[in-house]
Amino acid sequence: AKMAGAGNFQFFSGDMTTRAFERMKLEMAVRMALDKNELHLYYQPKVDLSDDRVVGMEALIRWIHPEMGIIPPFKFIPIAETSDVILAIGEWVLRQACITGKKILDMGYADFGVGVNLSAKQLKQENFVEIVRTILNETGLPPRCLDLELTESMLFDNIDRNIKFMHDLKKLGITLSIDDFGTGYSSLSYLKSFPVNTLKIDRSFVMDIPDDRDDMAITATIISMAHSLGLNVVAEGVETRIQAHFLKNKGCLCVQGYLFSPPVPEEKFMTLLGRH
Ligand code: C2E
Ligand code: CA
Ligand code: CA
Ligand code: CA
Repeated sequence: AKMAGAGNFQFFSGDMTTRAFERMKLEMAVRMALDKNELHLYYQPKVDLSDDRVVGMEALIRWIHPEMGIIPPFKFIPIAETSDVILAIGEWVLRQACITGKKILDMGYADFGVGVNLSAKQLKQENFVEIVRTILNETGLPPRCLDLELTESMLFDNIDRNIKFMHDLKKLGITLSIDDFGTGYSSLSYLKSFPVNTLKIDRSFVMDIPDDRDDMAITATIISMAHSLGLNVVAEGVETRIQAHFLKNKGCLCVQGYLFSPPVPEEKFMTLLGRH
């Protein structure tokens, strides 16, 4: 677009110009981070409480900046999501996670689960299902080992289209989870029309167990509802033995959280696997 000169900026407050400029700079920096191999995946174990074994992992992105160090996703994913940069990042994340997952399967961990977070933009990507199919083929990860995590708010945007999208993904043989369950516009009547396999109980409900009776009731209710609907349930953000015990007692056997491990780089994750 043709710039009409500096005079144009008088419509904006100086503040807005600076902010827009900062955003543009950050967006460009994220774009370059991918090319410069500054983006890395960390992995957090999913643990089965019946035997404390690592049964899977969730891939979580980090930007390791040469000067600024580790930049967490909340600082750059929202910016990346305002442009198509998120599509390139999302595809990279998916491929990388599948490569690592395949390595782990080849080490003898059958049925190891690989969880990958999706962004709203990827749902709208024309050829997303094809991209997943291609990555599964290229990496050799069995489709049943891939689990894509979607949030409720992403799904409510265009429900009919998204239900079809989920069915198309399921046809590949992969599984789907609803992430941060309970925090979105949970309409229970829609839940039954979503072809998902798993509900992930949001950390906000888990973190105040056992101090908050209401959170305990909500957590127990989500677990029991998931089971009644024939869905798996995973609890995130488990930090204490008391929380793990409560969840196990209510029938939620699969958990993630600092009690077992924070997200760690691949090499470190491999050592966690060997430890049980
Ligand atoms: P999420 O998918 O809900 O991921 C769980 C977050 O909780 C992660 O934060 C994880 O490090 C943190 N966590 C796990 N266990 C505990 C615990 O016991 N205590 C506490 N306090 N925190 C715990 P992280 O890695 O900073 O990721 C934040 C969010 O960024 C993710 O939330 C997800 O929405 C997004 N994200 C991360 N990686 C990707 C990605 O590759 N693609 C997309 N689209 N989004 C991503
Ligand atoms: Ca997630
Ligand atoms: Ca989550
Ligand atoms: Ca969360």
